[in-house]
Amino acid sequence: MKEELPSFAIPSVPIAGRAGRFAVRHIYCVGRNYAEHAKEMGGDATKEPPFFFTKAADSIAPVVPPEVGHVHYPLATRNFHHELELVVAIGGRAVKISPEQANSLVFGYAVGLDMTRRDLQNDMREKKRPWDIGKSFAQAAPIAPLHPASQVGPLARGAMELDVNGTPRQRGDLADMIWDVPHMLAFLSQLYELLPGDLVFTGTPSGVGPVVPGDRLDARIAGLTPLSIVIDPPIA
Ligand code: MN
Repeated sequence: MKEELPSFAIPSVPIAGRAGRFAVRHIYCVGRNYAEHAKEMGGDATKEPPFFFTKAADSIAPVVPPEVGHVHYPLATRNFHHELELVVAIGGRAVKISPEQANSLVFGYAVGLDMTRRDLQNDMREKKRPWDIGKSFAQAAPIAPLHPASQVGPLARGAMELDVNGTPRQRGDLADMIWDVPHMLAFLSQLYELLPGDLVFTGTPSGVGPVVPGDRLDARIAGLTPLSIVIDPPIA
């Protein structure tokens, strides 16, 4: 097929220790999956069913250490927030699975950031409008290389740390998820056909906060490749 306009590369994530990459189909994100973060956002989410939103695949901004990623401060916000998250990469097809079946779907895990235009998200939430402009935009999903589940999984616990300019901002543990990865994937598979190439951002612990141009973010989850970015000035 001859295309009328120039083509573009499918967004993809490097795989630690391998030459191949993980091509990204769809990005699902779960909201309020850590009780302390739900409280700081003004709710009590303890055992409500999980809820989901999405980011466009081209939100992905892969970073391979020792590289430090560069993320432009996005347009239209004055309150650009970090959310440290475990990212689960889906390697199989599934609909309506049980939690017991879910771990077999997981290709791997990575450290990711659900970067958020918090002012726009909150504004839309108050007006009962979709959150998209708060969550899905260029470079909204920085991500470190994926680690195959066959080597590191299943990941159910482990320290999570995010520092800004060397100062601790977020501290948590994967074990503190309200909905663990198997239950989250089981819920998600009631709503969508999960397919290889899907990514799931699994929610953030408390301590989210704003960053500005010049800030450096260092994100770590035990057992995974860390992720570091600096915030660049907005595009002009
Ligand atoms: Mn999030």
